[in-house]
This record gives sequence, structure tokens and C-alpha cells, in this order.
Amino acid sequence: MRDALYIDGRWAKPLQGGTFDVINPATEEVIHKAPSATAEDVDLAVKAARRAFDDGSWSKLPGAERGRYLRSIAAAIRERLAEISRLEVLDNGKPYPEAEWDIGDAAGCFEFYAGLAEELDGKRTETVALPDARFVSKAVREPVGVAGAIIPWNYPLLMAAWKVAPALAAGCTVVLKPAEQTSLTALELAAIAIDVGLPPGVLNIVTGPGSKVGQAIVDHPDVDKLAFTGSGPIGSKIMEGAARDIKRISLELGGKSPFVVFDDADVEEAVEWIMFGIFWNQGQVCSATSRVLVQENLYAPLLDRLVEEAKRIRIGDGLAEGTLLGPLVSRKQYDNVLAAIAKAKADGATIASGGGRAPNFNKGYYVEPTVITDAPLDSDAWREEIFGPVVCVRSFGTEEEAVRLANDSRFGLAAAVMSADDERAERVAAAFRAGIVWINCSQPTFTEAPWGGYKQSGIGRELGRWGLENYLETKQVTRFVSEDPW
Ligand code: NAD
Repeated sequence: MRDALYIDGRWAKPLQGGTFDVINPATEEVIHKAPSATAEDVDLAVKAARRAFDDGSWSKLPGAERGRYLRSIAAAIRERLAEISRLEVLDNGKPYPEAEWDIGDAAGCFEFYAGLAEELDGKRTETVALPDARFVSKAVREPVGVAGAIIPWNYPLLMAAWKVAPALAAGCTVVLKPAEQTSLTALELAAIAIDVGLPPGVLNIVTGPGSKVGQAIVDHPDVDKLAFTGSGPIGSKIMEGAARDIKRISLELGGKSPFVVFDDADVEEAVEWIMFGIFWNQGQVCSATSRVLVQENLYAPLLDRLVEEAKRIRIGDGLAEGTLLGPLVSRKQYDNVLAAIAKAKADGATIASGGGRAPNFNKGYYVEPTVITDAPLDSDAWREEIFGPVVCVRSFGTEEEAVRLANDSRFGLAAAVMSADDERAERVAAAFRAGIVWINCSQPTFTEAPWGGYKQSGIGRELGRWGLENYLETKQVTRFVSEDPW
């Protein structure tokens, strides 16, 4: 575990010497003192990123060479897969196999963007057809500049990869701030950057509280672009800060994603996808399957099976063999989720399963897998993101009603539909107002495909070639080529 920030290619102790506690959510024990930066450290990090961008040592490097660095980072992550996955579990609480999956995905993300970096030089310039023969014009793609990346705690290294990999591929330099709940693997990424010889200033990693460290990145005039994943209220704040200097911005915020199950669907398959969609990562997933809409005929059998399966989930320390559901990430998140369940009850909902602290644990932020029914349509349980292992289930009659209920949300991150009738599934998929739509499944996520939200779930798209766009500007270059005077 590291005790320094990563600034300008070197480990750097915070100028004011601050630290903060890293807590293992399974035991509530302090396992490390992580470095706590201040605005002064952020200033050094941004200056290093600015210099590394402006001197062209990274931004003008052939894409194939930037790609080579990204591939080296991916290889180093894979070499240390088990060790980094273990750190992720200690910091975040998730079951080890999930952590291993995430860390492998993070390596895959660096590999994918290495490929796009390699292709970028050949695609950088596009001829623009003009209606006036006296001119020729081209559009040139250039990196945006210094990117400030602020990320949450639910997928610590993977969220870092989703931002750092495309930014570096595009030729941007980066200042990354991980969530204060989960800084350990981001600091391992710093160690890897040092090991692979990433040039100084290209990537900088500063840890500490969002209100100080994150805000200092948002406020810094030398940051050209902000990429944020986290809560809506902080997203608004970041947008407000970005507006002052007209910084480029991409936001990936929360959701309350519906899963519509028609009565021609297979109950067992539906239950399997719902279980995965809401209990994976303890439900701390922005696209989590948190609202399930089931057609009347299937409602009772599906609910029975879901409750049965939810009760069987093995809860435990993420490092224990066979654990399927670990603790929530922090005391704050645990309190928030239990408060949301209590509020659901007070608002008239029924707790069909779970609903409290997981029994048999004296320590750790364990919450039972919880199934809620009868949540009123105007209740917080139905409308607000809980970000825990809590799913609301209700019935619907017609396709039209299902679509209306599904879209009746200020969020629009993801939505899913399950039906044996392909035409109907396609119709409903087209009617969803959401950035990610799954048919006959829920949650599969591919580095190649665009990821992002409609409505209050965010702005812009990550992943795939769309993720690279976030870090590129387009320059028009038009030349007067005629013999004729203008
Ligand atoms: P948050 O939005 O407070 O934190 C996300 C990141 O923003 C962290 O790195 C944090 O340090 C930073 N931050 C906080 N205040 C900042 C500021 N003023 N300026 C700049 N950066 C700042 O999220 P949270 O408190 O960790 O979680 C709260 C809720 O957010 C959750 O319950 C959930 O609803 C939502 N959330 C969503 C996602 C997602 O993937 N969409 C991920 C995590 C949390």
C-alpha cells in the first residue's frame, strides 16, 4: 500500500503531510493511512500535466508509441492481477472473483485504447467537401489538453481505466482523483506507470477528499476537460465549476434502471439476470437493475423465485471462498441504504425479503439482499437511486403501461426488456429513453460499446470509439487554393 501521491513521474508526499484512514469494509479496521492532498498538490499535478501536454512529448508522440505504453500498462496490470484484485477487495469489499473480473477488464480497457491510439494517426485528418472550388478544407482531430478525471468507489481501478486509457490514447495528459473510500488500486496504477516508464507529467494521481482535491481540479484554470463519474448533486457542482472556464465535460451519474419482464419470458432466466443486475457488486452499480416491472401473469411466480434466490445468497468477507455478496463500501453507504429501506417501509412499501443488517456479523457494513414490493410510484424507493442490494418489483398490464412506467424517471442510464417475442422486445427497446438498453439480459458491459446516460444520468459517452471522442477536439483547416483573386 502506497503512502505518496504520484506527480510529475515521481512519488510525492502531500506538501502539508496529510493522511486519511483507509478502512476495510468487511472488518471496519483501519488498514492504511493514505496520502491526503491539498489544492497545492493539485496545482503541482496540473502544472506537470500542462507541461507534458504543451511540450508535445506526449500529445505529439506517434499514436503507435502511445499505444505501446498503454499495452505495457495492461500487461503490468495482468501480471499483478491477483495482488491488485486482493487490494480492491480490502478497499471496496466486493467478492474476490468480481474484483478479479474488474481488474482484468481494466487491463482490457488499456489494450482496447492502445488499439485506437495506434489507429488514430491514420484517421486524424478528414477532407471536408466544400461547395466552393477555390478552397480546400480538412478536419483534424487533436487532443483536448489536460484532463481532470474524478471517479467513484464502486469500480475503483476499472473507472480509472475508463478515463485514463482513452485520454492517454487521444494524446491528453491526466490528473486523476480516485474516491477517498478507495484509493489503493489507483496508487498501484501510479506504481505501474513508473514501472513502464510513462513520461513524467503524462499521468498524475492525487488522493484525498472530493471537496478539497476534486474541487481543486475542477477549479484549476489549466485543466481543459473534466471527466466525472459519481452522484448527481456532485455532477451538477462539477458542471457549474466547468461552466466558469467553459471546460469540456463528460458526466456519468446515477440511474434507476428498469427491467421489464413480459409473461412469455422464462422465469428462471429472468430471475438469474435480475439477481446479477441488482446484487452484483452489492448493488453499488450505476446501471443496477433497481426497478423490476413484471407482467401480471408472471408477477407472483417470478417474485417467489426471486425472494427464494435472494435468501440463498452467501454473504461474507469478499476474500472468503464462496462469498457472493460482500459488505457495502463504507459506513456512510451502509447507513444510507438502511435509511432508504426504512423510508420505503414508512412510505407504505412491503419488504418481501431482507430489509436489514445481515445477521451473523458483528462487524462490517453488511446489508441483506432486499426485495421490495408495493413501493408507491411517488416514493423515494421507486424513484431515487439507493445504490445498494435493494430491488423494487411491481406488476404491469400492457406493453404501453410498461414503457410508460419504465420511462417515468428523471434518470435514463440503462433499461432492459425480456420477452420471447423479438419484435416486441425491439419495440420496447426503441421506446426506452435510456443510453444503454439490454434485450433478454441485464448488465453485460463491453469496452467496445458506448456507455452513458440520457436525461439526468449524464452527458457524453464513455467506452468504445465514443470514449475517445471525449478527449478530442476538431480543428478546421481551410486553404485558399485558387489563382483567382478573392
Ligand atoms: P460522489 O459523487 O460524492 O463522489 C464521486 C467522486 O467525486 C469522488 O471521487 C469524490 O471524492 C468526488 N467529489 C466529491 N465532491 C466533490 C467536489 N465538490 N468536487 C469535485 N469532486 C468531488 O459520490 P459518493 O459520495 O461516493 O456516492 C454517493 C452516491 O453517488 C451514491 O449513493 C450513488 O448514488 C452515486 N454514485 C454513482 C456512481 C456511478 O457510477 N454513477 C458511482 C458511485 C456513486
